[in-house]
Amino acid sequence: MSGSALYETFARAPLAFDRGEGSWLVTESGERYLDFAGGIAVNSLGHSHPHLVSALTEQAGKLWHVSNLYQIPGQSRLGERLAENTFADKVFFTNSGAEALECAIKTARRYHYVNGQPDRYRIVTFEGAFHGRTLATIAAGGQPKYLEGFGPKVEGFDQVPFGDLEAVRKVITDETAAILIEPVQGEGGIREGSAPFLQKLRELCDQNGLLLIFDEVQSGIGRTGKLFSHEWSGVTPDIMAIAKGIGGGFPVGACLATDEAAKGMTAGVHGTTFGGNPLAMAVGNAVLDVVLEEGFLQSVRDKALLAKQGLASVVDEFPDVFEEVRGVGLMLGLKCRAPNAAVNAALRDEHFLVVPAGDNVIRLLPPLTVSEEEIRVGIDRIRSAAAKLGAVTAKTSN
Ligand SMILES: *Cc1c(COP(=O)(O)O)cnc(C)c1O
Repeated sequence: MSGSALYETFARAPLAFDRGEGSWLVTESGERYLDFAGGIAVNSLGHSHPHLVSALTEQAGKLWHVSNLYQIPGQSRLGERLAENTFADKVFFTNSGAEALECAIKTARRYHYVNGQPDRYRIVTFEGAFHGRTLATIAAGGQPKYLEGFGPKVEGFDQVPFGDLEAVRKVITDETAAILIEPVQGEGGIREGSAPFLQKLRELCDQNGLLLIFDEVQSGIGRTGKLFSHEWSGVTPDIMAIAKGIGGGFPVGACLATDEAAKGMTAGVHGTTFGGNPLAMAVGNAVLDVVLEEGFLQSVRDKALLAKQGLASVVDEFPDVFEEVRGVGLMLGLKCRAPNAAVNAALRDEHFLVVPAGDNVIRLLPPLTVSEEEIRVGIDRIRSAAAKLGAVTAKTSN
């Protein structure tokens, strides 16, 4: 055996944490890191949020798992609350984002099947997309590096450039079932689909009998200052995949749909063993308790403004290191001029955690509960890292 017993699929940082407190992660030796990686947009309410801890421990003392052979009251309740607060009528719970996308893809294909059009199964997707690592979702994402070596690509995904309406129009045929898009691309580098673009996609779907699917696995649950990022555009989808933030660190995902879009998903056609189990549902409900509280999303928007202003000033100060600020709410990106891996490492040296993304971007995904003071500390740490990186850049260019 070489090295560890784990698959070598992750290039892990040489860091291990013992505990988390709000926006902070603490190593065994007591070193504190400001966490704007948030487990990749998962720790929506930071670490060890007291309401989440008590919801999970209370449920853990009562009942862990029964399967979907039985009624699960916490699941019905979370489903109703998601439906009440969105376009959706129906919800299917999963354990991950990729599974939520699988359900979304199956829901769209099945809709056309029960409408007597089984040949309509193709889905339009976008360059730079990320939808997960299952066989269907790597095909949907279309990234060659994720597809390589895994056999024939799952059939039925047609990819076009992000934001290119003409290309979408051209690729639609009578075999097209749906359009699938992240309203704000995460892995792709915090790239926002404009409101007019999303509105035009909605129109195209309506004109052609297609379903519009939003992947809000990363952008959902308050991340952008609205419960879901598509609310900024006024456009609603027919189907939506969510995960990450809804569990606040517990594995939960969900596929949401209108009654009409979900009409093919009848008894026995889809299933899951773990999805929607009592532990996951207790935490999901607890996350919603906080995020839906009066004033919470406004506080995210206020803090986002502060963060964006701070980042903009850092970009102005260090034009050799950074190019621009991107993003909406607390789903923020810094497009780098220096290699983003180097920026990421330099920030880690300042005990500040962020996440690299495509397009040479670093993502900042602080907990929605982050304080204004912590945002200022974060900006200062970026400034320190940039000053060191800038010095290196100046030296090597002389
Ligand atoms: C993370 C992510 C996924 C996949 O979620 P997993 O839980 O890793 O399967 C899908 N779509 C988007 C937009 C994501 O950010």
